[in-house]
Amino acid sequence: MAPFVTGIFFILGVFTLYQVLYDWVKSLLNVKGIKFSENLLNAWFGVLYMLIFIFSMQSSLVGQNISWEFMNFQIIALIYCAYFLNIRLPYYFFIPIVLVYMFFNNSIGYWQSWCHAITLMSTYWSFNYLRRHENHDHPFHIYIVLGIVFGALMWFFVKLKFSLSWMIFLQEWGYLVLFEMLLYSYVVMILRDSNLKMHLLDFANHDALTKTENYAAYTSEIKYLFTDSSHNKLNLSMLMFDIDHFKQVNDTYGHLAGDKVLQHVVDVVQTVIDENDSKIKLYRTGGEEFNVLFPGYDLNSTEQIVREMFGALNHTTVEYNGQTILISVSMGISQISKKDQEPADFYKRVDNNLYRSKKNGRMQITAD
Ligand code: GH3
Ligand code: MG
Ligand code: MG
Repeated sequence: MAPFVTGIFFILGVFTLYQVLYDWVKSLLNVKGIKFSENLLNAWFGVLYMLIFIFSMQSSLVGQNISWEFMNFQIIALIYCAYFLNIRLPYYFFIPIVLVYMFFNNSIGYWQSWCHAITLMSTYWSFNYLRRHENHDHPFHIYIVLGIVFGALMWFFVKLKFSLSWMIFLQEWGYLVLFEMLLYSYVVMILRDSNLKMHLLDFANHDALTKTENYAAYTSEIKYLFTDSSHNKLNLSMLMFDIDHFKQVNDTYGHLAGDKVLQHVVDVVQTVIDENDSKIKLYRTGGEEFNVLFPGYDLNSTEQIVREMFGALNHTTVEYNGQTILISVSMGISQISKKDQEPADFYKRVDNNLYRSKKNGRMQITAD
């Protein structure tokens, strides 16, 4: 039983280390402001990590008659990449990797090894397929059936190649199935924890009433965009708008009506954004104040879209308890300037333009 217990800790250690390293690389890239596709990072990092793990383990066994000893760990690593990391590995990557491994392992001349290699690739693709089409009620049942069947096939070919006894075959196959179950429960536990964290992060960056991103999200994004545009000489524009006489809406129709107006305003602006460019981002930065960031936009191109928003907002009405509420907004816009030392300088100019719109009679746009 001892090797089995060591095996458990070994496997858990390998995957915990993977998770820690992956999170570390991710936060390093975030801190350096490098934008990356999480899927791509996951795929490259996962494959690289598992290959180093598989090849370095195998290097101590090459050429020996127990070169099957680490096979269960390798199969588990494979299932982890295919099922849990959901890495799509096309045949033009996978086949060369398997061939290199077979050369490395001196097993290229054995027909059993070829059968084993084909089963191994089928295992990978089956687990990956299962993951991608997972809309059934019992994912674990299918997962474990795949694990049992493919595990038996792979161990059968290894048994033939090394003339192992049925006893060893059954024992190793049994261990594999246990490892597979363990991996499943372990990953589900870890994912539950990280899903919770993601949920909390999402919660911290969003406004509960309108579901837009909030002031906290705005400050971190403007910091990033401000640095990005000063370093790379990119344009950046900002709109700030505020609902006119909103206190009166609350006083006349009630606070719930006011809430509905806020939700409506967000819907209208978001619709205009969706029709134009998904890079444009809306934030609720105050009670009835909103900021919109236009990365890469100069004042002219921003103004065109802002006019669409302005027109849409000032012409819609909100129905509440049979009453029709009319709304208007005041807006200020500006683009980033060389004179801006920090995001606050830029913000102040936009805010000042909004203030001028209010002072000059509301329901207008001020730009400079
Ligand atoms: P102005 O045209 O100068 O902007 O006047 P205003 O009445 O819109 O501005 P003021 O700052 O005096 O009032 C803003 C109001 O917005 C006061 C506050 O009760 C209301 N408000 C802030 N957040 C919410 C919210 O989440 N829901 C509702 N219903 N009202 C809110
Ligand atoms: Mg207002
Ligand atoms: Mg206000």
